[in-house]
Amino acid sequence: MPAIGLGTWDMGEGHAPRAQEADALRAGLDAGLVVVDTAEMYADGGAEEVVGDALAGRRDDAVLVSKVYPHNASRRGVREACERSLARLHTGHIDVYLLHWRGRHPLAETVQGFEDLVADGLIGAWGVSNLDADDLRELGQVPGGKACVTDQVLYNLTRRGPELGVLPAAAASGMSVMAYSPLEQARIFDAPGAEALTTVAARHDATAAQVALAWTIRDGNVLAIPKSASTARVRENAAALELTLTDDDLAELDRAFPAPPRQVPLETL
Ligand code: NDP
Repeated sequence: MPAIGLGTWDMGEGHAPRAQEADALRAGLDAGLVVVDTAEMYADGGAEEVVGDALAGRRDDAVLVSKVYPHNASRRGVREACERSLARLHTGHIDVYLLHWRGRHPLAETVQGFEDLVADGLIGAWGVSNLDADDLRELGQVPGGKACVTDQVLYNLTRRGPELGVLPAAAASGMSVMAYSPLEQARIFDAPGAEALTTVAARHDATAAQVALAWTIRDGNVLAIPKSASTARVRENAAALELTLTDDDLAELDRAFPAPPRQVPLETL
């Protein structure tokens, strides 16, 4: 599975023409990207509709990820939310269905709801988002909880906390990590240390975005899901799969964007 996918937050809001957003997603699929990440929350379902447009006639090209709101994450609520998402996505199944963040419904109940959906073929697998290392360990203790395939968290050069918490906890549980906002919603280009991105990029005839993405996926267990409504930028982001950072590059980025010295609570956006 290519370690870069396609984000969709902000799509369906009218900030870019809907057809352009769907074209950008299709360009990503054409460039070999596979994972498409969305959520019932984004544009109140509007982002799922854009994804439905993009996948028309080519559903099997994608590994489709969507997310349920915590307030819908009761055993019965996940089914109802999933069915609404499927209608907007114009598909019969979501490949990986995530709990968007932890809410009032017990994890055990949400897991039961997810397992019902797997049994009925509405979803292929399930995961979580915004769960910290302790939450993951707790999840592993509830019945069926070990079937969780991924935790989607905020992780990029300016948010390295997961390296001391979620990343090792996920690896220990055999699950992958999806890095959201890998470009810090475009703020990374102006963040302190950003000149190192430019320096490293110049060595590889690459762009700062490609360096940030290549760094995020460097350890092999992280999949980054940058969002772009621009076909050119989606292609640029996809090409980061070809960029291998050297030890010197990694050391320079490490100095410019140091990891926290000790474990910190998981940050969210
Ligand atoms: P990103 O870090 O992906 O940044 C997106 C921004 O960067 C957009 O403004 C985009 O603009 C710009 N951009 C994209 N590619 C480039 C490039 N090559 N050069 C310059 N600018 C670029 O932020 P997101 O918050 O969108 O995160 C990615 C995805 O993660 C979301 O879309 C969503 O699917 C998921 N997510 C999940 C969350 C969760 O709680 N689970 C929370 C937040 C995000 P433009 O479109 O104009 O190109």
